[in-house]
Amino acid sequence: MSVIYQRVALIGLGLIAGSMAHAMRRGGLAGEIVGTARSSGTRAVAEEIGLCDRVVATAAEAVEGADLVVLAVPVGAMGRVAEEIGPHLAPGATVTDVGSVKKDVVDQVGPHLPEGVHFIPGHPLAGTEHSGPRSGFAALFENRYTLLTPVEGSTPEAVARLRALWEGMGALVEEMEAEHHDLVLAVTSHTPHLIAYTMVGVADHLRRVTESEVIKYSAAGFRDFTRIAASDPTMWRDVFLTNKEATLDILGRFTEELFVLQRAIRMGDGDALFDYFTRTRAIRRGIIEAGQDTDAPDFGRVKTRKEEGEG
Ligand code: NAP
Repeated sequence: MSVIYQRVALIGLGLIAGSMAHAMRRGGLAGEIVGTARSSGTRAVAEEIGLCDRVVATAAEAVEGADLVVLAVPVGAMGRVAEEIGPHLAPGATVTDVGSVKKDVVDQVGPHLPEGVHFIPGHPLAGTEHSGPRSGFAALFENRYTLLTPVEGSTPEAVARLRALWEGMGALVEEMEAEHHDLVLAVTSHTPHLIAYTMVGVADHLRRVTESEVIKYSAAGFRDFTRIAASDPTMWRDVFLTNKEATLDILGRFTEELFVLQRAIRMGDGDALFDYFTRTRAIRRGIIEAGQDTDAPDFGRVKTRKEEGEG
């Protein structure tokens, strides 16, 4: 593959930026990768493992001369970073991000970007419960969707170029409106994470009653919840604070459904439960048929892919 951007600036050097660095290197997609992170500790690790061609101390420095700038920090920090880099961006550069919420990022970042810069927010639907500069890996985005939500003013050429980068990293790319993205993700990712956090919280309370049994006998369902509930607290705090309306909407619907099932259990309505579970099983089949998961037996918890969660 050939070089798509001459200089890529990664702002934030965690799981997603690190995976992008590995994937861009593997595909020869970037002439030079310059990275920066807030803490000197993260920057030192990035230097030590050779994550980027150059690690610099500030975001302002990182974006100098870059034709692609990737904001890979928690959603709540995007506005402040954009304010810092705004005056230092090269004319004609593309600014993108990888945040799990899109409308709020558009509102936070947009006002700080000068004329002549293309702003194309994005979100790779791939992740793990791990974070930090050592957690990235080149295959993270393979066969997973990346959603782009271009704002008015970004040219089709700039969008096509960013699309080519993601495709070069193995991703499937689609475009959609930022608000629609936030609603879809509230259903597929944000609310499920909240439910996992809640279920693990319930078990934690129960553990005080049943001592270690919750851990000792934890079955697949609960173990899957604990993995999701181990996701980065800062990232997920920001997701719920910035995708408030869509998450509350879906959570309301979830609560109504839960009451329907609760009533079916109370009334001994086996037909209702059976029909419900039959419908949900079909959704799982659809995901497997779409190539977004495998139906390999997983009882031994042996993972063939490292990625599991996603923001
Ligand atoms: P991560 O591994 O925790 O890395 C976050 C990076 O952001 C670190 O380099 C951190 O710097 C920096 N950072 C944290 N707070 C900051 C602040 N207030 N100001 C400036 N920099 C700050 O996170 P990640 O998983 O790569 O997530 C990055 C973005 O991708 C988030 O917006 C998240 O919503 C999105 N995303 C995540 C996933 C997922 O599953 N993890 C999936 C898709 C999208 P230090 O290390 O120096 O603290």
